[in-house]
Amino acid sequence: MGHPSSMTGALKIAIVGAQGRMGQALIAVAGGDPTLALSALVVRPGSAVAGTTDAVSGLVYGTDLGAVLPRCDVVLEFARAESVAAAAFACAAAGKPLVAGSTGLDHAARAALDAAAAKVAVLQAANFSPGMTVLAHLVAQAAHALPDFNVEIDETHHLQKKDSPSGTAVRLRDAVRAGRGPNVEVVVRSRREGEVVGDHAVAFSSPGERLTLSHHAVHRELFARGALLAATWLAGRPAGRYTMEDVLGLAGRPLAR
Ligand code: NAD
Repeated sequence: MGHPSSMTGALKIAIVGAQGRMGQALIAVAGGDPTLALSALVVRPGSAVAGTTDAVSGLVYGTDLGAVLPRCDVVLEFARAESVAAAAFACAAAGKPLVAGSTGLDHAARAALDAAAAKVAVLQAANFSPGMTVLAHLVAQAAHALPDFNVEIDETHHLQKKDSPSGTAVRLRDAVRAGRGPNVEVVVRSRREGEVVGDHAVAFSSPGERLTLSHHAVHRELFARGALLAATWLAGRPAGRYTMEDVLGLAGRPLAR
């Protein structure tokens, strides 16, 4: 059966982790975008939904990314840190670009993304929100301009979140270090409560004042929209590692001098 995208020119996307919260948000958002064509949904081997049909897209949930890659243009991975390496290997082998969204990546996962990036375009981000991407730049600038201020990061997420601190908190700590140097001490506090999608605040304080830069994610769809924007931007790019800063045109324009 021919896919509709072969006639419309829509970008054919595969979602790894399709059964999860982010996977379902991606299906909902992509399903309403005529420039995108959902082409494959991949779930964890042994998942209860494997082999069943997704009610929204009409696609059957599969478990083998490699098998479905020939009919896809780009892969979005939002599953577990442990599954990133397998997605990276599969994309490199098939010559397909990868948008990697899982957080809590260890050295092996990052090395797998680096290796894949030698063969295909890879965009990894701990947070696909445009607002958060800009916040990281502002944090680097503040850290540079306020060298004597203490820095504290507070993050709150829903109870089901697996990694702590959040990948975004780690990203913000890296932004502080980018602005002020690698040895700056940064306190990071993590809270897990209710259904909070993602709250982050970076406070710079001196004895006389306190500057707080914060971000509040209202709903998960935000990350799905950002990731799909990234996927559209990434398709057709040469092999290499890319970031949301590249997507937003911020790369090479650091606010911190
Ligand atoms: P979730 O637990 O709701 O969903 C993850 C899904 O992946 C589960 O259904 C699980 O069964 C499945 N899975 C596990 N191993 C798999 C494998 N090998 N192949 C296919 N599927 C597999 O989690 P979530 O809230 O959807 O988040 C997923 C990941 O994305 C987490 O690491 C989270 O921190 C991250 N995340 C990133 C962003 C971002 O902007 N980068 C935003 C939100 C969440």
